[in-house]
Amino acid sequence: MKLTFIGAAHEVTGSCHLLEACNKTILIDCGMEQGPDLYENQELPIVPSEIDCVLLTHAHIDHSGLIPMLCKQGFRGQIVTTFATSDLCDIMLRDSAHIQEFEAEWRNRKARRAGEALYEPLYEMQDALDAIELLAPCDYDQKIELYDGISVRFTDIGHLLGSACIEIWINEDGVEKKIVFSGDVGNTNQPIIKDPIQIKEADYVVIESTYGNRLHGEETPDYVGEFTRILNETFARGGNVVIPSFAVGRTQELLYFIREIKEKKLVETYPNFEVYVDSPLAIEATNVFTKNTKGCFDEEAMKLVEEGINPLVFPGLKLSTTSDDSKAINFDERPKVIISASGMCEAGRIRHHLKHNLWRPECTILFVGYQAIGTLGRKLIEGAPLVKLFGEEIEVSAHIETLKGISGHADMNGLLNWLSGFETKLQHVFVVHGEDTVTDEFANTVTERFGCPAFAPYSGGSVDLAENVILSEGVKVRKKAGDKPTAIRAMTVFNRVVMAGKYLMKVIMKNEGLSNKDLAKFETQIQNLADKWDR
Ligand SMILES: [Zn+2]
Repeated sequence: MKLTFIGAAHEVTGSCHLLEACNKTILIDCGMEQGPDLYENQELPIVPSEIDCVLLTHAHIDHSGLIPMLCKQGFRGQIVTTFATSDLCDIMLRDSAHIQEFEAEWRNRKARRAGEALYEPLYEMQDALDAIELLAPCDYDQKIELYDGISVRFTDIGHLLGSACIEIWINEDGVEKKIVFSGDVGNTNQPIIKDPIQIKEADYVVIESTYGNRLHGEETPDYVGEFTRILNETFARGGNVVIPSFAVGRTQELLYFIREIKEKKLVETYPNFEVYVDSPLAIEATNVFTKNTKGCFDEEAMKLVEEGINPLVFPGLKLSTTSDDSKAINFDERPKVIISASGMCEAGRIRHHLKHNLWRPECTILFVGYQAIGTLGRKLIEGAPLVKLFGEEIEVSAHIETLKGISGHADMNGLLNWLSGFETKLQHVFVVHGEDTVTDEFANTVTERFGCPAFAPYSGGSVDLAENVILSEGVKVRKKAGDKPTAIRAMTVFNRVVMAGKYLMKVIMKNEGLSNKDLAKFETQIQNLADKWDR
């Protein structure tokens, strides 16, 4: 009964944990690293073809984005998750594969011209389609016997549509333990989806710590009021409100607010303003939200649904799917709202809209999410007077605004509050998914508050869950500045051979008792293979 921490260890992205129990190997999340990357992730100590299944907490790419790579390397097990997460993965993994292929093509065009070696994408569309085939969705709150001795249950954690914490019951050789993986813990009072649900029992908890040392602020901000003010002021100047937004989650929250603003006629002087959603992914994601209302929407959103109202649709909503639709937006001279991705302005159609609107003093660029260091979004928030887009220098004359307090993550109090739901004494809390020192800080906070041991592992760290003993704290290998995130490190070819050898040994042991004829055949094959390579 062993847990190994692979990704999001002393880091915020690339969630991936390996659980070995009852002769089964289970991955909890298999995410891609995004943005700043401090430490090298250790290799998975097993070949992907030997992993029995993946349990997925939610669809965000930093939790799901490497599943197609796992499939490319031979994984054929099930991906167990909620229905809504399964639907979101269907669109997000294809989108991610498209980005991988697109980036490889762009790099290779450059490489060919320079006579350099070609770049292989992490995975391609077919790998994503293979992964989607393996999705095995289940309902919230249903205890499922996954294998002999292992049961799981997914409970709403209020972070994204379909997001869950995963409870795992293990009974190995008469030793019973229960471990809970928090996934990303949601913020309370997020629109559309429910608040995080507490769990009562566990021996071990693996918890995220994105905001493990910060508070969002005392009161729930008045998003609708603030949003209305920005719309009123911008439209009075005759400008557009351009919103760089994450396609999945945040865009749907914005649509939810705008529907309310329109219904209550809060923009009095210009109530029929148009809203363009210019992102094919956001449009597909909105459809997934509309399909998965039952069991996922909170009381307020569900009330609208029951009244026959789609809470994400309103008069004046325009969806741009093709790039021609996208270009046409700029020919419409009336003031309007444009919602487009990516959320940090690093790629996608938003960059075209910034080029057309940034230089206009009557317009507003409205930020609605976290902007990482080094991104164009961060530069704009920090007041850059001039930015470069498509090789052109653009003067920043538009108003730059931020809708404050909007977050999909619980803050420190939210995390502690969720932990306080456990009524049994926790034997150990493992802190992951936070910035370097924040994970240690939050581990201390947990020990102070609940009096139980808490530990923030580095990648490769592992725990014997039967004995509650830390086997390894993990390896602290700092990345060199400028290194690109490598996601889960691809195994060296030699290590893959070693793993394959161990796998062969397992297969041999499994076949004890086979007929002598079959065993002799097996032996000859192994002998031949060994002779061939013994040189
Ligand atoms: Zn997330």
